[in-house]
Amino acid sequence: MKKINVGIDLGTTYSAVAVFNRQRHEAEVLLNDCGAKYTPSVICIENGVVSIGEDAKKLQSEGNTNTAAFYKSMMGDKEYKVYIDGGEYTSEDLSREYLRVLKRTIEQENNVEIEGAVITVPAYFDEFQRVATRKAGIDAGFNVLKIINEPTSAIIAYGLTGRGKKNVLVYDLGGGTFDVTIASINGTNVDVLATHGNHQLGGKDWDAAIMEELVERFEDEYGINVESYPECYKELQVKCEEAKKKLTQTSSTTVIVQCEGYTGRYPITREFFDEQTSSLLTQTLMIIETTFERASKKTGRPFGWNDIDEVVLVGGSTRMPQVKDMIVRVYGKPPVTKKIDVDTIVAVGAAMQAELCTEGQMAIADAALPGESKSSSGGDSGLIVISASDIQDVTAHALGMLAKSKDGKDYINSEIIPKDSKLGKPFGKQYSFRGDTLEVYVLQGEERDPHEATILYKYIVTGMPSGVKNIINVNFLYNQNGVVDVSATLEDGTSLNVRQTEVTETIDEIIAKLKKEEAEAKKRSNVEVMFVIDISGSMSGTPIIKAKEAISDFVRQTNLSSTKVAILGFATSSKWFCNFTNNASTLNHAISSIIISDECGYGTSYKPLEVHGNSFSWGAGAKVIVVLTDGEWTNQASEIQASQKLKQKGITIYAVGVGDADTAFLDAIASQRGKKVDLSALSTTFKDIATSIATEID
Ligand code: ADP
Ligand code: MG
Repeated sequence: MKKINVGIDLGTTYSAVAVFNRQRHEAEVLLNDCGAKYTPSVICIENGVVSIGEDAKKLQSEGNTNTAAFYKSMMGDKEYKVYIDGGEYTSEDLSREYLRVLKRTIEQENNVEIEGAVITVPAYFDEFQRVATRKAGIDAGFNVLKIINEPTSAIIAYGLTGRGKKNVLVYDLGGGTFDVTIASINGTNVDVLATHGNHQLGGKDWDAAIMEELVERFEDEYGINVESYPECYKELQVKCEEAKKKLTQTSSTTVIVQCEGYTGRYPITREFFDEQTSSLLTQTLMIIETTFERASKKTGRPFGWNDIDEVVLVGGSTRMPQVKDMIVRVYGKPPVTKKIDVDTIVAVGAAMQAELCTEGQMAIADAALPGESKSSSGGDSGLIVISASDIQDVTAHALGMLAKSKDGKDYINSEIIPKDSKLGKPFGKQYSFRGDTLEVYVLQGEERDPHEATILYKYIVTGMPSGVKNIINVNFLYNQNGVVDVSATLEDGTSLNVRQTEVTETIDEIIAKLKKEEAEAKKRSNVEVMFVIDISGSMSGTPIIKAKEAISDFVRQTNLSSTKVAILGFATSSKWFCNFTNNASTLNHAISSIIISDECGYGTSYKPLEVHGNSFSWGAGAKVIVVLTDGEWTNQASEIQASQKLKQKGITIYAVGVGDADTAFLDAIASQRGKKVDLSALSTTFKDIATSIATEID
């Protein structure tokens, strides 16, 4: 069987499949089992059997509640679930089932085997919607070659004439989405300048306007709210769409509403319909204005209707006369109509794109109109050769990351990739970072306020040398599917591991967590340790020598880049051998200067904790007091009280005793328990304290 690659327009209301014919140099739409070019995007699942298209649409119009339609607009939303046939389906699940049956139907009808597929999405689809569409395609059995924007696809199908330069505006109003794309076409080159849209605005809103009116009229007449009867409601939905389409042909139509045995007949005129839906049309106009602003930003010069050479209408809803009327009103000229089938043009462009994906280039027939000269790019053969690189698309969504604002007060969405940037173009961020895991939260959206953006993922970068400050280059880009790709390297080009993880927290939860981590990091980096050393007479000789060795060992064990140390000696009065410092030589000098002398007396009547316990700088870091003594203190009771106050403030106290020290007193002033050790074990004890300070705050 012939193996082919196709383009699929997976629409909200209708889908179409096309294939590029290399002999005829053009793409052709593949017919479905009804002999139609497009298939309703309606699905019905009953007893595990999936039916789609006209069959499912008929069941829907009969009020079958095992049917689903319009699910594409909820694509990528994991919370949105449809309950049919006793099961739970997300939009991605329904799209997968739909695509699976569509694939089978098209294969059977056309006697082919479909392998690869380019699937189209509205340009305004965000990351999750694109990823979900791709996943649905893969799970349905396609080799998904590419996810491409619908308006860009339409331009490929329509605009590649191989001659001249023109700016084109694509107005794509489908069943559930609206996109505007402005592209500059130069010969075979397509350069998308800007794209914008609303993926919740489409033909269904025009249906809903009729629906709302009829529900109201029926309720006025019979006091019955059709909305409370799902079967009647589904049936009426289908009728409203039909009525809307009729109004494209005629100036008035009548809708018959049936519910609970009552029948109402309600005429609707086109004039009334246009009036009821004028605000919807205005919404599309406002999106065009925004797209002009974007194009101005991109080109650096004012951009408006005057700069547009052609307006192309795409999507079934552009059949409504009000759309053309509006274009003529604001543009002054009618939209292009030649060669354009609004229902299939997107699938045709996607099929051409599939050819570009697999072959790198394609030759299309030069469709010069009578009187027009044929293009030169294809020579005499009447063919134009297009290569994959000729088509340059853009992203509809800016990409940012969660970062501290300049003043350090807030977290903001800091822009990495501006909206309307070229797909495939990398944007780098450099981090100077110490640690072994760098975490970056990536957001989609232009607003500086992160609450206004969509949280995409957390990226975790690992593999850098530990214990040193590394310069890390992180590269962000939108790939050719319009999906985010992140990679990271060290300054010397060594690539690092990047893991993408799902984020389940809200933005406020993330910010709270980051603030807490920040406070903890501060705590780690501003540690202050104060030694309170007994220098009463009983410490002279070996005890003070051992104490000095032990403090030296402590200092050696301590990371002075994050810790400051002070040494206080006391007996009947006190003396600072040194105040808080992280200078190693100052500390060593201070340690060697510790002596027992007349200066401080020889008893232990001083109150070192009460008088000096508060000598810390009160920065954010951890505060520690290490007491060393060898006997009872004169003022033990008041020192115990003082120690309690200090501990309440969060200060950690270690109490170490040698010789005749009072164990009960040590226990009372220490945060955990005091420790009485042999002089020979003093160094080890102090080293242990250093380790425990380092690990406790880590
Ligand atoms: P999508 O790509 O979102 O599936 P389509 O481009 O297939 O959408 O357009 C479908 C929409 O076009 C539906 O809302 C349908 O009601 C509307 N539509 C189709 N034909 C007509 C018509 N003759 N007049 C008005 N609306 C139409
Ligand atoms: Mg469409």
